[in-house]
Amino acid sequence: MTPWASFVTYDYYLPDRWDVEEKLSFVIGIPEIEAYIGAGMYVESTYKRLGAILTKQRAGYLAITMFILISLLVYALILLRSNQRLRREIQERIYAENNLGTVFDTIHDGIMIHDEAGKILHTNKQAAIMYGLSREEMLNYKIEGLSADPNMAKRWLERQEKTIDGQGYVLFEWEAERPLEKTVFDVEIGLRKTRWSGRQAYVAAVRDITERKQSMEKIHRLAYFDNLTGLPNRAYIMNELQARLDQSIAGSETGAVFFIDVDNFKVVNDTHGHLFGDRMLVEIAKRLDTLSSPQLSLLRLGGDEFLILAVNSAEESQVRRLADQIRGLFDEAISIDNTSFHITCSIGVAVYPRDGSTMEELLKYADLAVFKAKNRGKDRWVLYDSSMALELSKRTELEKRLREAYRKGEFILHYQPQIAAKSGRVVGIEALIRWQSPFDGLVFPGEFITVAEEIGLINEIGKWVIENSFAFAKSLMHKGVCVSCNVSPVQLNQSSFVTDVIEAFDRFGLKKGSVALEITESCLVESFGDTYSKLAKLRDYGIMIYLDDFGTGYSSLNYMKSLPIDVLKIDKSFIDNITADAVEGQIVKTIVALAREIGLKVIAEGVEVEEQQAYLAACGCNTIQGYLFSRPVTEAEILDLL
Ligand code: C2E
Ligand code: CA
Ligand code: CA
Repeated sequence: MTPWASFVTYDYYLPDRWDVEEKLSFVIGIPEIEAYIGAGMYVESTYKRLGAILTKQRAGYLAITMFILISLLVYALILLRSNQRLRREIQERIYAENNLGTVFDTIHDGIMIHDEAGKILHTNKQAAIMYGLSREEMLNYKIEGLSADPNMAKRWLERQEKTIDGQGYVLFEWEAERPLEKTVFDVEIGLRKTRWSGRQAYVAAVRDITERKQSMEKIHRLAYFDNLTGLPNRAYIMNELQARLDQSIAGSETGAVFFIDVDNFKVVNDTHGHLFGDRMLVEIAKRLDTLSSPQLSLLRLGGDEFLILAVNSAEESQVRRLADQIRGLFDEAISIDNTSFHITCSIGVAVYPRDGSTMEELLKYADLAVFKAKNRGKDRWVLYDSSMALELSKRTELEKRLREAYRKGEFILHYQPQIAAKSGRVVGIEALIRWQSPFDGLVFPGEFITVAEEIGLINEIGKWVIENSFAFAKSLMHKGVCVSCNVSPVQLNQSSFVTDVIEAFDRFGLKKGSVALEITESCLVESFGDTYSKLAKLRDYGIMIYLDDFGTGYSSLNYMKSLPIDVLKIDKSFIDNITADAVEGQIVKTIVALAREIGLKVIAEGVEVEEQQAYLAACGCNTIQGYLFSRPVTEAEILDLL
């Protein structure tokens, strides 16, 4: 018998719950045992379970799909990017190799790219122009073909290896050569490592520094050479001489320096002007330059001072001969604008290494020797010796002690009477300074006035003299004697001189003609215009002006006529022989006559004997001063003579 089977649906209780749910079951009837066997499931719950599984599966698929899609996108982006970089690289490369030239050509410097062996791979227009070649021609050259000598080329290649490694860049100066013209020019090279067409190479920026070098040379010339004469100057000799001395110490070589100082150059400048003075210096330099040889260097130290350095001339006879030669250069007059001028020089010589081993020492000693030469009457040379250094230290000591003397009030005035030639009456008194030194006793002005002038102390001392002699004059005003005092040209040159004197004159309430200032001719020569008006002002104020030491300078009587002076003091040297020598007697007679004719009074100085007095009185000389009547004496003593 065939069993019966079928699907059936029915509602049935859910397990463990009171809810019912539709259930689908497969039921088989088994007739033999008259029973049914079935297996079923709850329809809704099963659907739910299946739905959940399905939803889960769908999310998974979506995630995978998304993952795949994103991966594809990223990959595509990466591909795209690298493609762009590649394209840019390619573009740059094209640009580099094809367009670099255009860029390079706008640069002012020359650009050269070369390989490790120095072969030129590329250049810009400027580099080609610099070397006088075309760009194509440049490519046929190596660095060595573009430099002044093979050593230079070697140094370039060495630098490219050694120096660049550290800094990535090296800068150096270089002597380049134009290969066709064979002309050399100065360049500055900036060298850097690079790659060119895939190979190791170097790029060099080449700058023409010829102009820079030239201006450097000009600066050097300005610093080391004298503008006026074109001779090397002091700074140069300092370097040169020191180098030479060092060499000489090393090579036991010897030599001498000649310090040359033109005599009375100031007068040339003052009388003919500075432009003329400059031309004179150029002529002097030319003369000195005729001696120039490999052993002799000529230098201008400044102003009217020159220096000759003679190497390898150690023997004294040689040095003397050279000194004579230098002095002799000026025997012949110098001609400027068809006018001849006689110029002389004083020369000081110091020998090395005997006198010193530094240029400072040698210059100092040669300078000292010049000083000596001037003292001995100029137009000569003097060889330095060690006694001069002693003299210098004495002089320095004197300067110190003079300043101290002024501070401590160690100066005093002595007075010497001036006598009327006919009556023998004292009509005037000259104040003469002395230094009452605690070390040396009474020191006379001849020993310190020049030094005081040189260190400027004369201005203070001079003021003191005026103050004291004016005070003395005030006390003697009722006696009708004129007190004169000496004035240094240095003092007279001070701008406040006139006002200072007038102020003192007023303060003491002095009468016209009660005081006088004794000036020398050198005051008039130094700066005439200014001095003239100063003296005129003082004279108008009632202060008498005496011209001292007349006859020792250059002034003529004719010239005296125009000067604001009252009295001529004839120098002692004219008086000494008036009675013994007829000519000298006649000269003095003439001076007196002419002076009186132009309205000047005359004082004869240094009258020591009666015959002189008699002669002078007969000549018509107004006043006489000298040991015959009295030496200069103290204030108390002179009062007894009045
Ligand atoms: P000076 O102005 O020509 O003065 C005359 C000099 O001759 C004085 O020398 C005087 O003592 C000296 N003397 C006078 N009569 C005779 C004589 O009969 N025989 C001889 N052999 N000599 C005589 P002192 O006092 O030594 O002065 C020397 C120079 O010093 C002066 O020459 C003057 O130029 C300068 N001096 C003197 N006092 C001053 C001063 O206060 N200021 C300045 N700046 N210079 C002064
Ligand atoms: Ca005098
Ligand atoms: Ca005098």
